[in-house]
Amino acid sequence: MAGIYIHIPFCNRKCHYCNFFSLASQKNRTEFLTALKSEITQTRDYLAGEPVNTIYFGGGTPSLYQPEALQEVLEILAESPSLPDPKSSSSIQHPVSSIQHPVSNIQHPASSIQHPASNIQHPASNIQHPTSNIQHPASSIQHPVSTSEASLHPASTLKEITLEINPDNVTSVFVTELKHTWFNRFSVGVQSFFDEDLDWLNRAHSANQAIGAVRLLQEARYENISIDLIYGIPSSTDTRWQKNLETAFSLGVPHISAYALTVESGTPLAWMISKKRISPLDDELQVVQFKMLMEMALDHGFQQYEISNFARSGWNAIHNTNYWKGIPFLGLGPSAHSYNDNSRRWNVSNLSEYIERITNGACLYVEEHLTPEQKYNEYVMTSLRTMWGCDSQKLIYDFGSTIYDFFRKNALPMIDRGLLREVSGVYFLTDEGKLFADGVAAGLFLVT
Ligand code: SF4
Repeated sequence: MAGIYIHIPFCNRKCHYCNFFSLASQKNRTEFLTALKSEITQTRDYLAGEPVNTIYFGGGTPSLYQPEALQEVLEILAESPSLPDPKSSSSIQHPVSSIQHPVSNIQHPASSIQHPASNIQHPASNIQHPTSNIQHPASSIQHPVSTSEASLHPASTLKEITLEINPDNVTSVFVTELKHTWFNRFSVGVQSFFDEDLDWLNRAHSANQAIGAVRLLQEARYENISIDLIYGIPSSTDTRWQKNLETAFSLGVPHISAYALTVESGTPLAWMISKKRISPLDDELQVVQFKMLMEMALDHGFQQYEISNFARSGWNAIHNTNYWKGIPFLGLGPSAHSYNDNSRRWNVSNLSEYIERITNGACLYVEEHLTPEQKYNEYVMTSLRTMWGCDSQKLIYDFGSTIYDFFRKNALPMIDRGLLREVSGVYFLTDEGKLFADGVAAGLFLVT
C-alpha cells in the first residue's frame, strides 16, 4: 500500500507560529492547479504500481479551493494505474473498516508544532514504521453510521481521502458541494475554542466558526472528523486548556490531534521573542497541558496511538499511520516530501519555481538515498512515538543483531529511569518518556 499527499500552498493569512510553505497571497492559484495536475501525470511511476490506500490534501489551506476544483484533482489521480476508481460503488463502507493494522506525516499542517520536550527536529516528520500482522481491532467491524462518507468501492484499496479544512472556509454551500466529492475524512484546524488564543496565533477564524464548521460537517452526516488543537499557547491557561478539551470531546468527533506550540526560526513568533515583544514559551505550561491532554483523552475513551494523535477505537488516521509505519508515499505540490523505502525527496519550496519547472519539464525535487543508519534512526524515532512501539524483531531482521545490541545497551538505562518500558521485546515510551520523546530517541540513534 502507499499514500499520496497533495500540498496546497495558499492560506488566508500566515499564522504567527507557522513555518510551513504557504503563501498569504492568492496569486497564481489557477496556475498552481494546472501545474499540480501536470505533476500528477509526470510522477505516476514513483510508487511503482503500489496500490494507494490513502490520499491527503494538506497545506496551506486546501479548503480555500472550491470542492469541485479539488474533486477535479482527485479525478486526475484516479486515472493513475496505482489508484482504484473510488466512485464505482453502491455500497458505503466505513473508511477504516478494512484497515490492516500495524505492520506499518502529511504532512501535518503544522510541523512547526511539536512535543513539549522535543529538542531535535525529526528527519522525516511525516513518516513512520512498517511492521505488524496484527489485525486492527475494528478491522472487521462495519461501522453503524458511516452513511454519507464517500462511496468507496468495497474492494477498493482506497480507504481514506482526507481534506484539511480551515473553519472560516466552511459554509453550508461548501459542505453541500463536498457531498459531490470523494472526500471521506476531514481534518479541521481549530487550534483553540477561545478567540483570545486564536488572535494570539493570528488564526483567520473565530471560535464560533470552529464549532460551526464541525457542526456543519456532522449535519451533513460526515463522521470521520478530526480536529487539531494547540497547547502551551502563552495567552492560554490550564483552565482554558481544560475547557478546550472539554469542548473538543463534547463535539463528538472521533479523532483529535494536539500539538505543543513551538518556536520555529523565521516565523513571526520567533521574531517577536527575539525582540522581547513577548516572553519565550513556558515549558512547564506545555508539560502540564500535555499531561492534562493524555489524562482527559483516556477518560473520554480516546487512545493515544501516536504521541500527538488520539482516536476512538477504529478511527485512527490511516494516512498518517502509514507515514509512521514507513509505508511509501508520494508528495505532490511545492515543498511536498516523498518516500519509497530507499529514498526520500522533496519538491522545491517556491511556487513560481514549482510552476516554471513543471511547465519546462525540469526536475522539481532534491533526492536523498537513505543509509542503513538513517533508516534505523528513522524507525527508532517514529516507532517509539506510536502505541505499536519499537520492535526488537524488526531491529534484528532489518538492521542486524549488532545494531539491536547497541539499541538495547542504550535503552536499558532509560528503562531504569522510567522513560521506556519493554513488553515481549517491544519498547514503548512511558508517559514520563513521552515528555522527552525526541531526547529518548536521540539517545538511541546511530551517529551518522
Ligand atoms: S498554520 Fe496552517 S493555516 Fe496557518 S499559515 Fe500555516 S498552513 Fe496556513
